[in-house]
Amino acid sequence: MPTYYEKLKHLDHSYLWHPFTQMREWMGEEPCIISRADGHYLIDVQGRKYLDGVSSLWCNVHGHRKKEIDDAIKEQLDRIAHSTFLGVSHVPGIQLAQKLIEIAPKRLKRVFYSDNGATAVEIALKMAIQYWQLKGEQQRTQIASLAESYHGDTVGSMSMGYSETFHRFYKNLLFSVLRITPPHVFRYCQGMSEDQALEAAIKHAQEKLSQNENNLAALVMEPLMQGAAGMWAQPAGYVHALGEICRRHDILFILDEVATGFGRTGKMFACEHAGVTPDILCLAKGITGGYLPLAATLTTEEIFSAFLGEYKEFKTFFHGHTYTGNPLGCAAAIASLELFEKENILEKMQSRIEYLKKRLHEDFLAHPHVNDVRQWGYMIGIELVENKSRRKAYAPELRMGHKVIREARNHSVMIRPLGDVIVLMPPLSISDDELAVLLDVTLNCIRRVTGD
Ligand SMILES: *Cc1c(COP(=O)(O)O)cnc(C)c1O
Repeated sequence: MPTYYEKLKHLDHSYLWHPFTQMREWMGEEPCIISRADGHYLIDVQGRKYLDGVSSLWCNVHGHRKKEIDDAIKEQLDRIAHSTFLGVSHVPGIQLAQKLIEIAPKRLKRVFYSDNGATAVEIALKMAIQYWQLKGEQQRTQIASLAESYHGDTVGSMSMGYSETFHRFYKNLLFSVLRITPPHVFRYCQGMSEDQALEAAIKHAQEKLSQNENNLAALVMEPLMQGAAGMWAQPAGYVHALGEICRRHDILFILDEVATGFGRTGKMFACEHAGVTPDILCLAKGITGGYLPLAATLTTEEIFSAFLGEYKEFKTFFHGHTYTGNPLGCAAAIASLELFEKENILEKMQSRIEYLKKRLHEDFLAHPHVNDVRQWGYMIGIELVENKSRRKAYAPELRMGHKVIREARNHSVMIRPLGDVIVLMPPLSISDDELAVLLDVTLNCIRRVTGD
C-alpha cells in the first residue's frame, strides 16, 4: 500500500509543472509536500518541521497562522470573499488604501490594486507611458532600468528587468530599454572601492539619462537590493542620486519595492533609507503579510490628475484584473499593517539586523568559499565561489547552491538559493534563537557541501 506521501508524490509528478523548476530534476527527487505551518515553521505531510528561512518566497512577515491575520480573513469571509473593484467599491479596499497612503512616502496619494508583483510593475509602466501621452509629450516612450534587474515574468516586466538566464527565449517579444549599470563592485566595477564604484555609477547614470532625457518616460529600479539578480546591494546614496537625476530631467522615478517593501530592509520602505519619494511605487509580496495574492501601485496626485477628463476624451486608465483588490487580501493586509504597529516589528528588527551583519562578516565571510555577503535588513545573499582570490565561480552543473539548500532541508531549515547565492530572508518576526539556528545550519551546510 502506498503511503499518503507516496500517493501525493505520484500525483504531483503526474500532473504538476512547478515554477522556476527543472522538472526532470524535480521528478528525480523526493518532493517536500507542505501540509501546514506553525509560526515560523512549515510542516510537511510526513510531519517534519522546517524553519521558513526565505519567508515562503520573500513574502511572509509575521509568521504563518498568525492569529490576527487568520481572524481578519475569517471575519471578511463571513461578509464576502470577492466583489469586483470595476465600477463598484468595497470596505476593506477603501480602508487599506487609506492605511497605505498613511505609511507611504508623502507625495504618494493614490492606490491602484492588482494581484502580484509583475502586474504592479506593468501597471506602473502603463501609467508612466500614458501619463506622458496625456501630457502631450508623445516622444517620451522609453524606459530605463538597471542591468539584471528583475521586475516579474509578464512581457512588460521581463522587458524592463531582463535576465539572460530567465528570459532569453522571449527576447524577440521584449521592447528595448535603456540599461543603467549599477555600482556592484563584485560584478561591474571590479578593482574599485565602494565609494569609487558609487561615484562612477552615478556619473554613468547621469550621462545616459541626460542623453536620452527627451525620450525617457521613466526609470524603474529595485531600490537598495536587486533581489532576483542574486541579492545585489546598492548604497542608499545610489537610490538617492538616481531619484535626483530623474527629478532634474523630468523622468518619472518608479521604485519596484515588491521585495523590499513592508519592513524587509529594516524600514517600512527601502526608499526611506535613501530619503527619496518615487513618482510610482510598486508593492506586492509582503503586503498581505504573505497570506494572499494582492499588489498595489501607488502614485502621486500629479500623475493621477493627468488621467482626469470627460469620458469621451478617453483618458481613462483602461487597465484592471478580475481579482483587482480582492477583499480577503485587503483584510489580510490591514491586519498585517496593524501588527507592524502593535508588535513594534521595525524597532525589534534593528538589533537583529546588527547581529546578522556581525555574524555574516565574522563567520560567513571568513569561509574560504564565501566570496561575498550582501545584506540590507533581512534580505541577505551569501555568494559561494570555487576560488575566492580569483573570484572563480563554481561550474553550474555542480549545483552548489542547490546542494546547500538540500542539505539545510535535512537539518530542518527551508531556504532557496539564486544560483550559487544562498538567500536568507526570514520572516520579520523571527526570534533571536531561530535566527541563530538559521545562520548556524546555513554555515554548517556550506562547510559540508564545499568540503571546508
Ligand atoms: C518577486 C518580484 C517581482 C514579481 O512579483 P510576483 O508577485 O512574483 O509577480 C517583481 N519585482 C521584484 C523586485 C520582485 O522581487
